[in-house]
Amino acid sequence: MRLNPGGARGIVRTTDSREGVDMAVVEMELDVPDGVRVCGYERIDGGHAFEVEWTLPTEVTCDKCRRPPQRVHVEWGDRIQVVRDLEVWGQPGFFVYQPPFHRCGWCRHRQWLLPPFKRKHVTVTLRFEELVLRMMIGSTEEEVARKLGISAEMVSLIIKHRLSDEQQIDPQRVITDVGLDEISLKKRHKLYATILTDLTDPNRLQILAVAPGRDQAAAASCLNRLSEQQRAQVLNHRTDMSPAYTAAGDALLPNSQQVVDRFHVAQKLGKVVDRVRKKDTCLQKEPVGEATQTIPFANVGLPQTAAGPLRRGACTATNAVRADSRVVPAVSFPLGRDRHL
Ligand SMILES: [Zn+2]
Repeated sequence: MRLNPGGARGIVRTTDSREGVDMAVVEMELDVPDGVRVCGYERIDGGHAFEVEWTLPTEVTCDKCRRPPQRVHVEWGDRIQVVRDLEVWGQPGFFVYQPPFHRCGWCRHRQWLLPPFKRKHVTVTLRFEELVLRMMIGSTEEEVARKLGISAEMVSLIIKHRLSDEQQIDPQRVITDVGLDEISLKKRHKLYATILTDLTDPNRLQILAVAPGRDQAAAASCLNRLSEQQRAQVLNHRTDMSPAYTAAGDALLPNSQQVVDRFHVAQKLGKVVDRVRKKDTCLQKEPVGEATQTIPFANVGLPQTAAGPLRRGACTATNAVRADSRVVPAVSFPLGRDRHL
């Protein structure tokens, strides 16, 4: 079984026989964000809750009084925070933690110490945001919301955050394959955005940039986030058949070959065939053969979701997952609702 970001695989650690019953201990191997430690696990109805912790800073600057950095004085909020993460075995995963804050020694202001896996004012992880954006390629906000069990407003908010990000791309990152895709934000209002994805490692797709619009300027704005040297290292760029993306690739990726996504070719072909079929039907006033009616859309080069090939029910040995003795408190999961932390 392949390990995906946020995915998990079960490893059978021991099997033995106790009181005449064969038992197996299955450990879960989980991919966690950098700097995060999992210290507890609880199987909940329809999902998985992971208690997490991270290293807190030793010094902070108060957001309110802006006095010089002071030694951190940690206190803990009373409400357990629940943050939606990627799926595990086909079911939602959550990070839960008791939120730490710093109390300013000067002005007594309470300043939350954010975990490294999420931004302020949202209840989803950064990698969940990535998943949402990738799922938006070829889907609407409503479809993505339905598939993930969150509200369309949450999807919209995630996209808005990513559009306003000035995310820097590590200049040392070696990128040889990229994808340029458009996403449709609001069908009726014809709002679009362009997404640049790093496709170098198919198991670790990562969104590098998002820009409003789907014209050449939008594609160029994404590509210009890469350094000149990084753009020269790109060997392939996958796009749809948009002339705007072709022009941006020609202008900014000097050593790269354009690859037109098979999905978009199939989509265009499907539309043409459909048009011809309708015309033909009108002329002949009789149904046409099945061969011209369907173009298979499945398996035509769509990027895999981070949830990967793991399916619901792939493993049910959930009670034997190893965790330390700390128990995750009983929590409820207000999906799609912001907690302002
Ligand atoms: Zn202060």
